[in-house]
Amino acid sequence: MSLSEIVAQVQTAEKEANRDVDSTNIIAVSKLQPNERIVAVLAEGHLEFGENRVQEAVGKWPGFRESYPQTKLHLLGPLQSNKVKQALNLFDYIHSVDRMNLVHRIARVADELGSCPDLFVQVNTGEESQKSGVVPSETDQLVNEIRNYNLPLIGLMCIPPLDEEPALHFGLLANIARRNGLSGLSMGMSNDFVSAIRMGATHIRVGTAIFGTRDYSKK
Ligand SMILES: *Cc1c(COP(=O)(O)O)cnc(C)c1O
Repeated sequence: MSLSEIVAQVQTAEKEANRDVDSTNIIAVSKLQPNERIVAVLAEGHLEFGENRVQEAVGKWPGFRESYPQTKLHLLGPLQSNKVKQALNLFDYIHSVDRMNLVHRIARVADELGSCPDLFVQVNTGEESQKSGVVPSETDQLVNEIRNYNLPLIGLMCIPPLDEEPALHFGLLANIARRNGLSGLSMGMSNDFVSAIRMGATHIRVGTAIFGTRDYSKK
């Protein structure tokens, strides 16, 4: 597949869901992709990219941004407290805010830097022990903490369990967002973004379907 095919599929899904065309932000997930594939998508004029690891992103994005300064970068993977400063300096969005002590650290560093990326709270909708994210029952409390600090919280993010119907998790995420007055929904990946758009996704995170398979040997 390619970016233009994904854009066409997204537009079809938006029309079928009676949504405005181009109302979904397509984040091209470039983790573990060869540089030439990333440059090809940058050259097509795409602006939103996602990475999973701070270290990997710090190594390649400052260079790409010299040629493509308009690029917006999204951090999608877990964030360790000792990487917060690097993350706040590099990323425009963080999708993986999932615990109190991380919120406290982000608040302190944002105060120091005088700026903060837009934030999503990652919700572990399947309550899987190996997955990051705050459990649904503790999400409202975490949202309130972020608001107490006046940090720019824009929505919620989830990664559904592999073996379950993703729409159930997208619906759950949308409900938690609604009861908290949040409009951003970061949900849907290569295999389920059509369903996510139907359920109201504002940001979909598409890697393989745009770039091809990843090279995990480089991890
Ligand atoms: C890798 C990743 C994606 C993209 O997954 P694809 O299946 O390649 O589209 C999306 N979101 C997160 C959090 C990821 O880690």
